[in-house]
Order: sequence, then structure tokens, then C-alpha cells
Amino acid sequence: MPEPTPAASLPARLPTSPQAAEVPEVVAFWQELGLPGLIDVHTHFMPDNVLAKVWAFFEDGRSRAPWPIAYKLPEDERLALLRAFGVRRFTALSYPHKPGMAAWLNSWSAEFAARTPDALHSATFFPEPGAGDYVAAAIAAGARVFKAHLQVGGYDPRDELLTPVWGQLAEAGVPVVVHCGSGPSRGPFTGPGPFGEVLARHPRLTAIIAHLGAPEYGDFLALADRYPNVHLDTTMAFTEFFIVGAAAPFPRELLPRLTALGDRILLGTDFPNIPYAYVHQLQALAGLDFGAPWLRAVCYHNAARLLNL
Ligand SMILES: [Zn+2]
Repeated sequence: MPEPTPAASLPARLPTSPQAAEVPEVVAFWQELGLPGLIDVHTHFMPDNVLAKVWAFFEDGRSRAPWPIAYKLPEDERLALLRAFGVRRFTALSYPHKPGMAAWLNSWSAEFAARTPDALHSATFFPEPGAGDYVAAAIAAGARVFKAHLQVGGYDPRDELLTPVWGQLAEAGVPVVVHCGSGPSRGPFTGPGPFGEVLARHPRLTAIIAHLGAPEYGDFLALADRYPNVHLDTTMAFTEFFIVGAAAPFPRELLPRLTALGDRILLGTDFPNIPYAYVHQLQALAGLDFGAPWLRAVCYHNAARLLNL
């Protein structure tokens, strides 16, 4: 496997798509905060044929609300956009919907990380024989973040085939982004119950609850209160799409909890699979009026600390 190129020698290619017009607004957001850029813990990069299927799923209207993909672009253009936005580090989350897929996704993700020095080496798993082994191999190969999608995967996180997986992630202190909330649609094992039991068995697990746990926000914030290594990402929260389209608005009475947990909330966006401009997520967070120190922590410093960047 080739050595990653140093960040200093990143290709200077500028984005050429119409979405490049969004660059000044995104850059102004972090510059006004005095940040060196953004760190986005919830972005997706996966093999082209898999991503095409994800896009088709959203655009065919099989999800709840109309969901046109704003960044349906070739991979090099998506990377050029993120870099022009000033996203210094980002994840490359992928996730299987069936057995026999995770190890292949992990080998693609390792190759992607090797040729993309600003992407965090990401990996995934599924409850299947060998999951413990390929997760161990991914950690040994340098994976720095994992993804578990309980809704798309439709699996029980308490499955005994995953016991060695959660155990190793907890022991290694490698964060796992977990989509375990019941938005945009409920799965057989979504909601705070099943994953709450995983945390009870692995209380040191470093979990990043995707989408602030939407729509079960309060229950997942309670898990963060109980377990000090539980974090939450902001992905799609507070956007108009979430408030109007998906009917999963964040309850006003819980807003103070987000400031109390301000060192464990992380910027996530779902780029490129979002039905609005990237800057909208940033503006939605700024609109909470929690102040510049909160935004600086959420948009950069919390992730830098958690991921040792
Ligand atoms: Zn996502």
C-alpha cells in the first residue's frame, strides 16, 4: 500500500462544479470564528457503484421526504469542494446492508485513505462470522473511525457476533459513528434500547451518536450523560429539512443540554448525500445562538481532541 502523501502536498485542484460558488460563504463562517477550518466527522466516501445506489435510494423517494442529492458529483470534484470549503479532516463512512460486504468496503476505505491524506481512515462491520477478525485487522491497519448503521443494516447491535467488535473498539479507544436513532425511519433495532444495552456492556466505548440521535434526542442525550465517552454528531440536525421535511425537530426544552454537553457535540453533515447546501448546516448551528466558543468547539476543537488530529 502506498504511503499517504503529506497534507502539504495535497493537490491544489480547485472545484469546477456550480457548487463551488458556495465556497466563500463556508470559508467566511470558520474564518469569522477564528478557526483554522472545519473538521467534519460524518461524511461519506464509498465505491462509486455503492454510492450510486445510495443516491438512487434517496432520489427515488424511497426515503420519507423528497431528497435530491446536492453533491452528486465525481469523487475528485467532491474532494476538491470539501478542501475548498476548508474542511481539514473528514471521515469516509461506508456501511453494509448485508453480510459479506464489510470486509470489501474496508479494503476500499483503506485504499481511499492511503490516497487521500486528509480523509480519516474509516471502517465498518456487520454481525457475521469473522467480524471480530476483520475489525482487528482494520484497527491494526490504522483505521481511526468506524461506522455502524443499525437502520440500513437492520441488525441487532447486541448480536453476540458483535461482542468482540464492540470490545475491541472500546479497548482501542477507536470511535464508532453509530446511526441508532429511528430517523428518518424506524428499524427493528433502532432507538435507545438496543444500543443502550451495548453501552451498558461496554461502558468505555467511544461512540458518536449520529444525527444527535434523532428523533429520540432526549434518550440519547441521557446516554451521553451516563457514559463519558458518548458523543453526538450534528448531522442534519436543525436544518430546515429536518424541521419541516422529516418531522424530527429538536425539542426546545432540550437545547440547554447541548451547551452542557458542548465538549461532546461534533460537526457532522452527511456530505455529499444532503438535499441542501453545505453551508446550511453551519448556519443552522450558528442559529442556535450558543455563541462563538460553542461553535468553535463543535466545528473543530472537539473532533481534533477526540481524533488526536
Ligand atoms: Zn450519514
